[in-house]
Amino acid sequence: MNSRKRRNAEQGFATRAIHLGYDPSDEHGALTPPIFMTSTYAFESAEAGSEMFRGERPGYVYGRTRNPTQSLLEERLASLEGGERGLAVASGMAAIGSTFFTLLNAGDEVVIDHTLYGNSFAFFTKGLTRFGVTIRLADLTDPASLPRVLTGRTKVVYFETPANPNLRVIDIAQVSMAAQAVSALVVVDNTFATPALQQPLKLGADLVLHSATKYLGGHGDLLGGIVVGRAELVDRIRGHGLRVLTGAPLSPLNAFLILRGLKTLELRIERHSEAAQQVAELLADHPRVRNLSYPGLPSFPQHALARRQMRRFGGLISFELDGGIAAGMAFMNRLELITRAVSLGDTESLVQHPASMTHATYSPEERAAHGIGDGLLRMSIGLESIEDILADVAQALDRP
Ligand SMILES: *Cc1c(COP(=O)(O)O)cnc(C)c1O
Repeated sequence: MNSRKRRNAEQGFATRAIHLGYDPSDEHGALTPPIFMTSTYAFESAEAGSEMFRGERPGYVYGRTRNPTQSLLEERLASLEGGERGLAVASGMAAIGSTFFTLLNAGDEVVIDHTLYGNSFAFFTKGLTRFGVTIRLADLTDPASLPRVLTGRTKVVYFETPANPNLRVIDIAQVSMAAQAVSALVVVDNTFATPALQQPLKLGADLVLHSATKYLGGHGDLLGGIVVGRAELVDRIRGHGLRVLTGAPLSPLNAFLILRGLKTLELRIERHSEAAQQVAELLADHPRVRNLSYPGLPSFPQHALARRQMRRFGGLISFELDGGIAAGMAFMNRLELITRAVSLGDTESLVQHPASMTHATYSPEERAAHGIGDGLLRMSIGLESIEDILADVAQALDRP
C-alpha cells in the first residue's frame, strides 16, 4: 500500500467514500477509477494459473468471483461499514441468497424478525423451508422475547432496522448479545440506514448486507448487493455461495456506478433525512393521517432507541389515511411530483402501497399479524427541492 492509500484508511467517512483504495498514479493519472470490463484474466504461465486456482498465489482468475472494479467497491464498503471484507453481488436478493446458502445446512434454524422486505420474507418462509431449514418468527423489537425462539440449532438471527415497510427499529447491540449467547450469527440488512447513519458491525453484528440498488447506488439506475463482515465469513460466501451456489456477481459497470454513488452518499443521506423529517412533521399535523411512522418524530415509539443507534433518521416514511386502502390509493393517484413506483433511496421521491406491491408476498393474515396495514403507504423522500415535495404531499392530502 502506498502512503496515499494508507492515509485514506484513517480519514473521515466522506473522504474514504471518495478516495479509499485508489491512487490515480496507478492508472495513468485517471481521476476516476477505470471499469475493468473483462470476464477472464491471462496467466503469466501455466504454473501460475494452477497456483492461483489452489489459492497459493494472489491475482484475478475469472469474473464470477472477483474483478478489480468490484474489489475497489468491496474495499470502500468494508471500510465504511467498519468490517474486514466486502463482497459485491448482483442484487440485494443475491446478497441474501449467497449468504444463507453458504451459512446453512438442512436441520438448521433461523430466527427472523416478522417484518422484512417482502421478497426476503418469502426467501425465508417459502424458500429455505423447502430445504429442511426451520424459520422462527420473532418480534425483535422486544429483545426479551429472543431467548424463547433461540435453540441449540439456531444458526442465524436476521433482521432489518429500520424495517421495510413500517420502519420498526431493532436494538442491534441487545439482539447481538442474546444471539452470541447461543453462538448464533447476527446478519443485519442495513439497506434503509446505510453506513452513513449506522454501522451494525460495530454494535456486535457478524454480517451486514445491502440492496445497493437503493441508497448506495442512489440513482435508480442499477441493481446491486453487498455483504460485509469478517474475512473468514465473507471469503466463504464468495468462494462457495457466490461461486458455486448462486453465480450472481455484480457487473463491473454497476460496480463503477455504485462507486460513483458512494461519493455523494453522506451528502445525499443528510438531505434525504432533512426532507423526510419535514414531510413527516407535515403528515403528523394532518387530521387525515394515521399510523405515521418516522423514527425522527418524538411520537415514534422507538424514537429514543433510534436516536441512540442512528446518526439521523433516513428518507423513508410510512403512514395510513383515514378511509384506508381506497383513501391511500386516491392519495397516490393525486400526487403530481412524487412518483408511483417501488424501490427507494433514489433522487426521485417515490410512493408505493406495500400490501399490494412490495409486501404482497405476505398473506393478508401475516400482514395483519405483523403490523403491515392494508392501507399503509410507504414514501421514499428524494432529493427534489424540499418545498416542492411538501407542496405535492399537501395538495394530494387536501384535494377532494
Ligand atoms: C430492495 C430490498 C432488498 C432486495 O434488494 P434487490 O436489490 O431488489 O434484490 C432487500 N432488503 C431490503 C430492505 C430492500 O429494501
